[in-house]
Amino acid sequence: MQNCIFCGIIDKKIKADIVYENEDVLAFKDINPKAPIHLIFIPKKHIESAISVNETNAQYISQIWLAINLVSKELGFHEEGFRIIVNCGENGGQEVPHLHFHVLAGKKLDFPHF
Ligand code: AMP
Ligand code: ZN
Repeated sequence: MQNCIFCGIIDKKIKADIVYENEDVLAFKDINPKAPIHLIFIPKKHIESAISVNETNAQYISQIWLAINLVSKELGFHEEGFRIIVNCGENGGQEVPHLHFHVLAGKKLDFPHF
């Protein structure tokens, strides 16, 4: 998708600090981290938001989840714990219109957080 920052990262036209990649999933460090570890996991297909997930693209969600678990173990934050966040639409605070999973770790996080 043209003019999509995250599609630009997938196509390697925009630089990112990539921590994991497979056929369907890309993970990279958030440029403006909100925790000591802040990663972004995205499908390598342009899906606009959580509400755009349907029968044809839902397999990306399980692939992302498996990638999160794998990376949490590779980077060693799986035991101390972490948080997965998906912002959806304007009220959800979604700024980049390409579905993404935030993974926050490395400290005890506040909850709830509005
Ligand atoms: P959201 O508000 O849920 O859409 O989150 C978008 C996230 O993408 C924010 O945490 C940004 O800091 C992050 N972000 C935006 N552009 C880039 C980029 N070029 N590389 C890495 N992270 C980015
Ligand atoms: Zn995109």
